[in-house]
Amino acid sequence: MDYYLKPLKELIKFKTISTDSDYKEEIEKCVNWYQNLFEDNGFVVEIVRGYSNPIILAKYDNNSEQTALIYGHYDVQPAGNEKDWDSIPFELSERDNRLYARGIIDNKGQSFVHIATVLNLIKNEQLGQNVTFLLEGGEEIGSPGVANFLTDYKEKLSADYIVISDGTMIEDYPVLEVGLRGIMNLTVKVFTSDRELHSGLFGGAAPNASHELVNVLSKLYDDNKLVNMNGFYTGVEEPTEQELENNKTIPYSFEEFHKLSGTKKNISEDGVDFYTQTGLRPTVQITGIESGYNGEGYKSGIPNAAIVKLNIRLVASQDPIKVKESIVQFFSNNLAEYADFEIVHSDDEGSVPAVKIDTDNEYVQKAITILEEVYQKKVLRKYVGGTIPLVYHIEKILSIPQVIVPLVNPDSNMHSVNENYDLSYLKKALEFSNNLFKK
Ligand SMILES: [Zn+2]
Repeated sequence: MDYYLKPLKELIKFKTISTDSDYKEEIEKCVNWYQNLFEDNGFVVEIVRGYSNPIILAKYDNNSEQTALIYGHYDVQPAGNEKDWDSIPFELSERDNRLYARGIIDNKGQSFVHIATVLNLIKNEQLGQNVTFLLEGGEEIGSPGVANFLTDYKEKLSADYIVISDGTMIEDYPVLEVGLRGIMNLTVKVFTSDRELHSGLFGGAAPNASHELVNVLSKLYDDNKLVNMNGFYTGVEEPTEQELENNKTIPYSFEEFHKLSGTKKNISEDGVDFYTQTGLRPTVQITGIESGYNGEGYKSGIPNAAIVKLNIRLVASQDPIKVKESIVQFFSNNLAEYADFEIVHSDDEGSVPAVKIDTDNEYVQKAITILEEVYQKKVLRKYVGGTIPLVYHIEKILSIPQVIVPLVNPDSNMHSVNENYDLSYLKKALEFSNNLFKK
């Protein structure tokens, strides 16, 4: 495992936080580190700029028949409160059979499984394919520019298939990701006046923006737990018999749900299992509300404005533009006529539709065979609730088979404190990658 751990120790140290522009220099250092690593091992490297943070393209031509494109992202989430970590977030630490560090699974350490493997195979003259690594630095901010990059670099990215390892497994079952929900975000502001008012002078007589917003939001879902917006479900593909059957084979228990979520109830639509609800049904989530005074003590004011942030997870074949129209109509229909609203921000360019992955090809079949050999368990096919924007764009622009295989433990604390990689999972991941790319 040394060939993996030694360079990883260096890689982890770069604070490649893409959500904060203060870390641009760290990102440059990391890109430079990668460039040296690849060039030292005989790769032709191109650092592509002008599409968000630099993209690393590293090619190794082995005169093989097949070419694999391998994706990863080197940017990470902020560490959060360092005091809540049991070790320093940007230093690799090993304890209790786990590696700890920010980025150890999302995604530096996870994508490094394939990088270390390929470098090791080259060293031992055992690499069986041509390889192109595509490493981006803006995944955690929604991969802006990635669609343009894929379009502009289509030829240089030509490959027989792509391998993506980002995300987590289910228990200790090997997982093949066969679909991803889409995403869009928007911010709506409701206002009742051009000024904040005194609650003593006007309370009970003047409209209150907080009240008006909460009133609208209380109607977001109907009694059947469906999103209560005209047109929201237009185009939504009902899960097929086959998909429903598939999802029933994935182990689920309320105890595990409770353990992972910390919540007291699974509030899925009636009769809809957890994996179908989160993988194949759309949702609107309120992700933030802001209004009035929330500082120390109290203020006797009537807020004139209230803001809500909404995060929508889309399914195939929902159109983000139509969904946005539904949201506008929802506010028009439900907001009192004496209040106004506007969409103050929407990530029209960052929104990504859902995607389903074709598995009927030799590349996916080979990966399944190797996974079942390595893990000695049947592969679970998972419709994932989250979004990897690149996957949608690969499907539309490169149109090559995609092998999406997460290789880390489910309790890895992705995006949270004490992000970790269970070493027993790591060993199997290295074995899988080795068998996938070797001669
Ligand atoms: Zn992430």
